[in-house]
Amino acid sequence: MDFQLTEEQKAVRDAISKFAAEKVAPGALDRDRTGEFPWEVLRGLAEQGYLGMTLPPEYGGAGADWVSYAICVEEISRACASCGVIYEVHNSLHADAIYHHGTEEQRRRFLPDLISGKKLGAFALTEPGAGSDAGGLKSTAELKGDRYILNGRKCFITSGGKADEYIVFALTDKSKGTKGISAFVVDKSFPGISFGEPEDKLGIRASCTADVILEDCPVPVENRLGNEGDGLKIALSTLDGGRVGIACQAVGIAQAAFDAALAYSKERQQFGRPISEFQAIQWMLADMATDIEAARLLAYRAAYLRGTGQRASKEIAMAKLFASRAAVKHTANAIQIHGGYGYMRDYKVERLFRDAKITEIYEGTSEVMRMVIAGALLK
Ligand SMILES: Cc1cc2nc3c(=O)[nH]c(=O)nc-3n(C[C@H](O)[C@H](O)[C@H](O)COP(=O)(O)OP(=O)(O)OC[C@H]3O[C@@H](n4cnc5c(N)ncnc54)[C@H](O)[C@@H]3O)c2cc1C
Repeated sequence: MDFQLTEEQKAVRDAISKFAAEKVAPGALDRDRTGEFPWEVLRGLAEQGYLGMTLPPEYGGAGADWVSYAICVEEISRACASCGVIYEVHNSLHADAIYHHGTEEQRRRFLPDLISGKKLGAFALTEPGAGSDAGGLKSTAELKGDRYILNGRKCFITSGGKADEYIVFALTDKSKGTKGISAFVVDKSFPGISFGEPEDKLGIRASCTADVILEDCPVPVENRLGNEGDGLKIALSTLDGGRVGIACQAVGIAQAAFDAALAYSKERQQFGRPISEFQAIQWMLADMATDIEAARLLAYRAAYLRGTGQRASKEIAMAKLFASRAAVKHTANAIQIHGGYGYMRDYKVERLFRDAKITEIYEGTSEVMRMVIAGALLK
């Protein structure tokens, strides 16, 4: 067992943290206020080869390992959690799903544009009546000749309306229930796809979240991923990869909060000395650092297991559960260390506190993570 990053992983960390500090962090506060979608950041990530970085070179990827990718999600999220989730969804939930579940023809058709950044990808599973119980979805895909006709409404879709391409899950056979769900790659240019107004959210405000509406949307048969009926399996195995990313996003947000709290504690003077000299503050910092380190280790292990093709739903759920809880708890502690100033919009811990909460909800809530863990323990 080796707890050191490889030389290659260290080089990725150096490069992405420099990129994040120079190109991602500076606009984060403004984007939080305006909700402006971070196209410029995404262009930069594409130019530097960070999109689809774990995918093989024959499709344009860098063939990087998953721990390197995990570090990228962490560092981008440390600078801007909105950019972190857009990046993570594009890679883990969209491109990776096509790589793992697509045919060779589909990989060659879809992946190069996703890796070069020509197209942005999204993942459309959730519906108004089907969240944690994703298998209860109602959208339909009816085969007519060489096309499926898709109808339904997806909600809370990250990059909804901004992305060029959506992996959409719909019922091809209602009588088979969860075994009747299939997955499709739906292009924004297809007739019959439209989008709701962007949601007004607590946090990750620069990541556009919107409904995806399908009304008699024709999708060519050759855009179906896997066989008819494979949809839920594809969704759940893809979400395992996504949850690795959300665990890393949570680590990045928590680390940013810790960095800010540590620096502030050394500057802020009360009772004639820096507040970092008070034991109450020191203990908070010690607990923060310990939990963040533990979360990072769980997240990197989850990334390693995912990247080496091992079944790791339990370990991934543990990483997401622990890291998201740490992010919520310690962004609150970072505000506490800042006192009243931390409650103000001008201090970034206020944004980090709002951004952290979503990591306990999307790509499977903390309750669902506990169900996955308990299910594996009791098997
Ligand atoms: C900002 C944002 C971005 C998102 N992006 C995407 C996206 O890109 N693509 C996508 O498909 N979806 C996306 N989602 C949807 C997200 O994955 C769901 O919101 C999430 O899975 C929870 O579903 P729900 O909101 O319907 O809550 P519900 O499932 O209704 O849950 C409500 C509460 O009940 C609990 N609960 C539910 N079932 C159980 C149970 N069996 N046992 C115990 N507790 C239970 C939940 O944990 C939660 O506390 C996004 C959501 C948000 C808010």
